[in-house]
Amino acid sequence: MVKINSIIPGSPAEKVGVLAGDLLNSINGHSVRDVLDYMYYAAETEVVLDIIRDGEQLDFNISKDEYDDLGLEFETFLMDKKQSCSNKCVFCFIDQMPPGMRETLYFKDDDARLSFLQGNYVTLTNMKQADIDRIIEMKLNINVSVHTTNPELRVKMMHNRFAGEKLKFIRQLAESGIKLNCQVVCCPGLNDGDELRRTLSDLGELMPNITSMAVVPVGVTKYRQGLFPLKTFDKKGAGETIDIIESYQREFLEKFGTRTVFPSDEFYLIAERPLPEAEAYEDYSQFENGVGMLRSLIDEFGQALDMAEWEGGKRFVSIATGYSAFGTIDMLAKQAEQKFPELRCDVHRIRNDFFGETITVSGLITAQDIIAQLKDKELGSELIIPPNMLKRDSDLFLDDLRVSDVEEALGVKLRTSGSDGFELLDAMMGIEY
Ligand code: SF4
Repeated sequence: MVKINSIIPGSPAEKVGVLAGDLLNSINGHSVRDVLDYMYYAAETEVVLDIIRDGEQLDFNISKDEYDDLGLEFETFLMDKKQSCSNKCVFCFIDQMPPGMRETLYFKDDDARLSFLQGNYVTLTNMKQADIDRIIEMKLNINVSVHTTNPELRVKMMHNRFAGEKLKFIRQLAESGIKLNCQVVCCPGLNDGDELRRTLSDLGELMPNITSMAVVPVGVTKYRQGLFPLKTFDKKGAGETIDIIESYQREFLEKFGTRTVFPSDEFYLIAERPLPEAEAYEDYSQFENGVGMLRSLIDEFGQALDMAEWEGGKRFVSIATGYSAFGTIDMLAKQAEQKFPELRCDVHRIRNDFFGETITVSGLITAQDIIAQLKDKELGSELIIPPNMLKRDSDLFLDDLRVSDVEEALGVKLRTSGSDGFELLDAMMGIEY
């Protein structure tokens, strides 16, 4: 039974008299364990809510359109505790974070419900056959962290003796028609080279229900004392990994009409190779894994710049970004300056002293590093930062400093660059919405 916290005014549940504080026992005779059960059973047009109120059982009959929300709100989004992971992956980023950060950043979730609802990646190692059966029954598509299809290597990499045998769930899901997006965190000397070939070949057997695969290089911070000795990719290793992935792209494209597997942008940056053209990313299905972000930004910015016209007087702004995106952002800033002589846009690469210099992505830059490295610089009227430097829907950096702390320390107004190339140009030009 799940306690109903509140009822949305005007909703079907309110109209039939369900009250806050009632206990939801079942929907159409199905017990409700969590939000997935709730969403699945409540999607019907005819719904009977089995409610317990002050120890008395009551039925409420609701007629509605399919998928219309009943209007019940519960204490937590999942209607259940978040499932944590049962692994101790040798490459886990959370294990390499410094102490003292906000508590929620240390939570290791591995929850298939969040995979369906929010796109999180799950390892399947904490799942039982009944959980897999439910995914198949509900026809939920999920995102899976595969890392390797070699069972012994998966056990070693994930420090979980069940990690190898749980690979059978990937096959079972795919063969049952569930669509899977897959992710491989690639660690030099562990699951690269022939092991990566094996993984891509094995997943290729499950096409077309493996809809995409991203291969991303491992991130290594300076906080690895006592942990597995991991290396990062160098130029040669990154190039070899791209070659392997691109050879599978060609094979999959010929056989299935889609490349399916994509190296993340970081591989091209480490290998110092040009980014592929847009068509190589197809529908950008692995964008959230850093696949095609830079190509998309460059193309959008180019389109925006073609259409843009300068209004007003001179403008001087600065941009703060990580080492990996610096070359691209600097190139775009120079393109804008060339078209608009009134604009000066200085781009600053911020070294990641907080996590260590090997961490180069902008999403892991902290406010304290920005302040320390820009405090003596001339920054102009605004400092532009990418939105992924801030916690979603907040003004909080990873180190819990706020936008206002940086503004005060540097004496400059901060603004985020938005989520695409169009909004980046708007930020450079000072266009407000
Ligand atoms: S699955 Fe592995 S990488 Fe993910 S949180 Fe758990 S230990 Fe860390």
